[in-house]
Amino acid sequence: MSELFVRTLREDPADAEVPSHRWLVRAGYIRRVAPGIYSWLPLGLKVLHKVEQIVREEMDAMGAQEVRFPALLPREPYEATDRWTEYGPNLLRLQDRKGVDMLLGPTHEEMFTLMVKDLYSSYKDLPLSLYQIQTKYRDEARPRAGLLRGREFVMKDSYSFDVDDAGLQEAYDRHRVAYQRIFDRLGLEYVIVSATSGAMGGSASEEFLAVADIGEDTFVRSPGGYAANVEAVKRPLAPEQDASDAPAAHVEDTPDSPTIETLVALSNERFARADRPWTAADTLKNVLFMLKHPDGTRTPVAIGLPGDREVDGKRLEAAVEPAEVEGFGDADFEAWPQLAKGYIGPGSQNGGSLGLDADGKGVRYLTDPAVVPGTRWITGANAPGQHVYDLVCGRDFTSDGVLDVAEIREGDPAPDGSGPLTLARGIEMGHIFQLGRKYAEALGLKVLDPNGKLVTVTMGSYGVGVSRAVAAVAEATCDDKGLAWPRNLAPYDVHVVATGKDAAALEFATELARQLDEAGISVLLDDRKASPGVKFADAEILGMPNSIVVGRTLADGVVEVRDRASGEKTEVGVDVVANHVIHLVRG
Ligand code: ATP
Ligand code: MG
Repeated sequence: MSELFVRTLREDPADAEVPSHRWLVRAGYIRRVAPGIYSWLPLGLKVLHKVEQIVREEMDAMGAQEVRFPALLPREPYEATDRWTEYGPNLLRLQDRKGVDMLLGPTHEEMFTLMVKDLYSSYKDLPLSLYQIQTKYRDEARPRAGLLRGREFVMKDSYSFDVDDAGLQEAYDRHRVAYQRIFDRLGLEYVIVSATSGAMGGSASEEFLAVADIGEDTFVRSPGGYAANVEAVKRPLAPEQDASDAPAAHVEDTPDSPTIETLVALSNERFARADRPWTAADTLKNVLFMLKHPDGTRTPVAIGLPGDREVDGKRLEAAVEPAEVEGFGDADFEAWPQLAKGYIGPGSQNGGSLGLDADGKGVRYLTDPAVVPGTRWITGANAPGQHVYDLVCGRDFTSDGVLDVAEIREGDPAPDGSGPLTLARGIEMGHIFQLGRKYAEALGLKVLDPNGKLVTVTMGSYGVGVSRAVAAVAEATCDDKGLAWPRNLAPYDVHVVATGKDAAALEFATELARQLDEAGISVLLDDRKASPGVKFADAEILGMPNSIVVGRTLADGVVEVRDRASGEKTEVGVDVVANHVIHLVRG
């Protein structure tokens, strides 16, 4: 340690929001260069390499072959698949000295597709899976939590190439198993959830989420085995109702009722219904927003949903991708004067079109799966201070389509009928997609089939967040004293701490380190001239699985072996300590 390039810090970094970020910086594993951009110091790099090695071994074992592409890429292939535009502001674009557009790769579907197209031409060449462990760039809007969401990060990305759907399914299944092995070996508690495929396109896709309260993803589970990212939960349409005896829609003055709560209270007071009180679920809330498309154009959209539910921002973002969601501002209200702020509704009472309709000129009106023909609603009458009652879907208004972006709540039924949902949070560690033929089609990757006919190749795309995994493991294992690595990821197997001014302690510690080293155990030896307190604190921050304290007790013929995770301390005789530690490390 007297020579190791490391400094532990006594203070938390100002931008640290989560424990793993705080400890990785304080323990001298990583250093921030700019928001979302980090340097790796010797200890951190050792952990990164160990994670990489686990990923590499499992990818090799499933038959994928390692390659490496550059990060700096030409624009044209991404133009051909539309991603130059569709990827939006997350894509780091730049120009070379000749003014030629280039990018720093956020993911490499295009490049792998072209590489295979270059070299392969027959069904006999397939199946094929290729992977790389490489640095990716995404200009994330909110880089966060150190390595967890970086703008530069290390990803393992792999791609499978097959002639038919059965082949793709097999490649997907093999990746799924390899990922289970990877995350098992990383010691992460994880769930596999159905996912949306986001900017990638394609169909079947699942995510591997490390269960963690600080995670940015919310997922749901049911007792019957349903598991999905909330973004991917598809609520079924509610059953249609018979509204043949519903009264005609009637507009009422509803002063001072700008919120759902006040509207429900006023409705129960003045327009009480016979069978039961009105609730928020009887009201139809209409939320306006703007969609900003990758080409820069903006279109207004309204979503109608029961008043007891909020729009879930992340579900909305995922549903409209690659468009982005923007608020409906005052200028937008000026441009759409038929929309009465706070009293918007889909009906056509009060004389004429309200703009929420499918005539191609109005605001697109999309509705929650609970809004089905025959359902009766209280909603805005498109005039300040007025609401309309008994407005029946299918009779008094129609929807331009379903948009299922309402929040999912604890206790909601699982879409497949497998019981009530519980919610938890996780960190997305890996993602597997069946891309299908989108990229092969766009870039012309075809091979001859057994009948001599050209067929488009079908592809899968699979990613593991390698640098994110370092942080996720740190997050799962650290405590209030520092990092606490599992054995297979720790930078060193043991930390030998020589304490006291006595030369004998340092001598014994150095000899023990040498013996362990000889036995293939990697040792970090604290040979510094520092106080025992400083050394113990550092050993806890740095987080090797075991430390051996050589000091005061040496005169009695014992040293102390500490277990970082449990805090347990054991006195071990000096003559047996080397063997003791070798057994500990080898398990
Ligand atoms: P997220 O939803 O977290 O933004 P993503 O779905 O955009 O991730 P993918 O395109 O599926 O990410 O990338 C594959 C893997 O790369 C992810 O599962 C994740 O582990 C990792 N990853 C993605 N973005 C980042 C990032 N900004 N920093 C670190 N790792 C990342
Ligand atoms: Mg993903």
